[in-house]
Amino acid sequence: LVSREAQEEPTVVRVKDVAIGGREIVLAAGPCAVESREQIYDAAVRVKAAGAKILRGGAYKPRTSPYSFQGLEEEGLKILAGAGEETGLATVSEVVDLPSLDVARGYVDMLQIGARNMQNFRLLQAAGRSGKPILLKRGLSATIEEWLMAAEYIMSEGNSQVVLCERGIRTFETATRNTLDLNAVPVVKELSHLPILIDPSHATGVARWVGPMSRAAIAAGADGLLVEVHPEPSKALSDGPQSLTPMAFTRLAQEVKRVAESV
Ligand code: PEP
Ligand code: MN
Repeated sequence: LVSREAQEEPTVVRVKDVAIGGREIVLAAGPCAVESREQIYDAAVRVKAAGAKILRGGAYKPRTSPYSFQGLEEEGLKILAGAGEETGLATVSEVVDLPSLDVARGYVDMLQIGARNMQNFRLLQAAGRSGKPILLKRGLSATIEEWLMAAEYIMSEGNSQVVLCERGIRTFETATRNTLDLNAVPVVKELSHLPILIDPSHATGVARWVGPMSRAAIAAGADGLLVEVHPEPSKALSDGPQSLTPMAFTRLAQEVKRVAESV
């Protein structure tokens, strides 16, 4: 189902009134985690003004350490949904297991499956039955083939609304948090009809490198970006160092628009 042979024309995924995989580049932006009402509303208003169409914010955070902030869970989803309604932005949030998926589908417009769960096959199947569009991140050490098979798990349950998201893979390089595999864009476009977003935030781990990789992603043919933006990155409870200020995101959106017009 995922392959180009199965379907020649590109899939356009609809998230509320936003089309991913159409002619327009789609920007999804917002904080790594929903931290408070003020934080997410502030982020929402400002990323919308910059041109973002989708608001991101994690409520269930798969943290490396069990002692790190784990997310506001259902309370966070409520706040996120409110900010989405108020601003008219579509919303996306990560689910980490079957119970969180059941809760999140009542609140958000798109469900995110994170890198650490890319091969959680029961979760993928449940996502396939959720009735929601799915943002499927590439696993930390997953090949493109494995990633596409993960998408196949979702699609084989009857859900064709899958967006792939390259967020960097683990390599020997330690200068960046991960290594952005931009090869994935033309490769996925050749092998599959599904749209692909690039997440330059988790790929680099460093806010000042998000801009260059975003421009490169759009030049390579990505359908859009998933970018972490925090009203006050230095105070973020997670992923502050890679989060853009709203002002930096505004600049990035303008630059990316220019690149999109030239490709
Ligand atoms: C996130 O989007 O905040 C996240 C945890 O991403 P990933 O699953 O790519 O690490
Ligand atoms: Mn994050």
